[in-house]
Amino acid sequence: MWKSLWPMWRTAFEEAWAAFVAGSIPHGAAIFDCEGSLISRGRNRKYQRRTQPGVLFGNKRHAAERRHEGMKAVGAPIFHSKLAHAEMNAIMAVDPAAVDLASCTMYATTEPCDQCAAALLATRVGALHYASPDPRGGRADLLLANPRLRRTPIVVIGPHDDDLSLALMTLRATYWIWPDRAGADPVLQPWKTAAPQAIAAGERLLHSGDLAALPPTPKGAAKALAIIQRCLEECVL
Ligand SMILES: [Zn+2]
Repeated sequence: MWKSLWPMWRTAFEEAWAAFVAGSIPHGAAIFDCEGSLISRGRNRKYQRRTQPGVLFGNKRHAAERRHEGMKAVGAPIFHSKLAHAEMNAIMAVDPAAVDLASCTMYATTEPCDQCAAALLATRVGALHYASPDPRGGRADLLLANPRLRRTPIVVIGPHDDDLSLALMTLRATYWIWPDRAGADPVLQPWKTAAPQAIAAGERLLHSGDLAALPPTPKGAAKALAIIQRCLEECVL
């Protein structure tokens, strides 16, 4: 499956996988120009403790720790942030003086939330492809709800009804099923009817530990996708 994916989806999946390995919600996003060249990439970093300058990461659980370390220098990562979503980090990595976002397309592994939908509108990204639905927090409907915010409407394509979409939902289910994951219950509740196969496969993956030793690299991402797909084939309901 990995080799048959568009390069755009491979990049977005790599970001989601790297987020998963780092202990953050496995959402990834990448922005490409109209010629298919990669402009930027980003991932969810809500629960990440360290990163490079210029990206959103962390949340209040780590704020006291970061204050203690004196992290407020110019150019430091922007921490203590619940805004550290994949789409936000992909957008923030773009130099708006050098790139016309109206001619670009974002590929996101997951349906954007209300915050990221607003950021896509405000920054006038030309198009969004998203692979998998988010039964709880997804607000792709907002992208088409208020055309007054833009001169030209954003093109929205998604969610996909394919193996990639189900694999991404399974990766997210595996993340949320993790023991003692804060806030998991309200997230997983709507999934039990919207994506029961992803829940079943996520439980099996968690208990097997098959994803545990894979690195946050493109090779690790390709291997993870293969493992998820095999598990889904074994978990047909
Ligand atoms: Zn978001």
